Amino acid sequence: MLPSHDVIVLGGGAAGLMCALTAGQRGLRVLLVEHANKVGKKILMSGGGRCNFTNTGATPANYLSANPHFCKSALARYTPADFIELVERHGIAYHEKELGQLFCDVSSKLIVKMLVDECSAAQVRIDTQCQVHAVQQVEGGFRVDTSQGHFAAPSLVVATGGLSIPSMGATGFGYELAKQFGHTVLPLRAGLVPLTLSGKHQERLQDLSGVALPVEARHGKQAFRNFMLITHRGVSGPAILQISSYWQPGEELKLDLLPGQDAHAWLLEQQAQRPAAELKTVLGDALPRRFAQRLCEVWLPNRPLRQYNEPQLREVSALLQAWPLTASGTEGYRTAEVTLGGVDTDGLSSSTMMSRIVPGLFFIGEVVDVTGWLGGYNFQWAWASGHAAGMAV
Ligand code: FAD
Repeated sequence: MLPSHDVIVLGGGAAGLMCALTAGQRGLRVLLVEHANKVGKKILMSGGGRCNFTNTGATPANYLSANPHFCKSALARYTPADFIELVERHGIAYHEKELGQLFCDVSSKLIVKMLVDECSAAQVRIDTQCQVHAVQQVEGGFRVDTSQGHFAAPSLVVATGGLSIPSMGATGFGYELAKQFGHTVLPLRAGLVPLTLSGKHQERLQDLSGVALPVEARHGKQAFRNFMLITHRGVSGPAILQISSYWQPGEELKLDLLPGQDAHAWLLEQQAQRPAAELKTVLGDALPRRFAQRLCEVWLPNRPLRQYNEPQLREVSALLQAWPLTASGTEGYRTAEVTLGGVDTDGLSSSTMMSRIVPGLFFIGEVVDVTGWLGGYNFQWAWASGHAAGMAV
């Protein structure tokens, strides 16, 4: 069989584009196949249209995976500084929002344009609106049957992403392909996703929809300090999205409603200063007033501070610092930023992303069981794993 290309990349998202341009720069003939009408759709919608393209503090500790060591090699060999250098070379203005998160000043479109320009310069052929019908291993590599013809190459890179936001072209294609070639796919679930509440919990908070407050959301040893937003159906906001990736159905989360403060010491101080003030009034100075009021209607006894003895104040502060929240579910892939789980890293080389089962087959980006926190970490994984495969194909 005469290969038509050296490499075929399936999926023109963040990881696929990075892999294609890297391989192209090495002089390889690269074909990138994308089934949507354009590449990089998720990049376009990311970061509220400004793409949080990396995080300067990205380390392996910011990723979830059944094997937390797997991501180390690729992340070390393509760092946030490498991607920033690319962004600066293309004259794209950016800024740090908070916590190392870098965003474009103007538009995510500039990141997609940069990647496509790099692909063009490296002679990568990009076929959009190209449906993949079948993939087979053949002598000397892989044969890919598509709506635009049959292609063959000694290397095949699967970069078809996860299940989140199906309306943007997300499919389970990569997982099916992995299984076809004998790989294990670890259970999939929505991550970085709003949580839903039901029953009494939802009734108690529903009319507070729109209220936001800083919290520390905790699950076991994992804690995220940021904002929580109460929604019509449950809770969202960055603290909740972050902890959602660690949460499993049936489990309880604890929220510290006065993060960074010693609630007990603060309440004692308030009691000494304003003994006649009711708890809901005092809490209303530290929390959104309506939320404080609801806490005192449902979860806490409300009376003037002078009427609490020391153990009672301790109970109040314990609840404020570990408010229990039992979610009934998540908003699902419709709104999730990422898909947790995926192609088991046991079957892949951590330095090249190549299959240990089928030589020449690679998996990169979100389809792999490596999922980052909110804040530019997921794109950094896409760039790093794409680069690792692009250097190895
Ligand atoms: P994708 O970018 O999803 O690309 C996969 C590509 O494969 C798509 O173009 C898809 O159309 C194509 N494809 C799928 N099936 C097939 C098939 N059968 N044949 C051909 N092509 C196929 N992460 C950050 O780090 N920062 C952010 O600011 C950020 N914001 C986000 C905002 C939203 C709303 C969402 C949903 C996600 C966000 N993420 C962000 C996460 C980030 O977008 C993903 O982690 C990242 O895009 C994964 O890259 P990928 O290349 O693996 O997959």
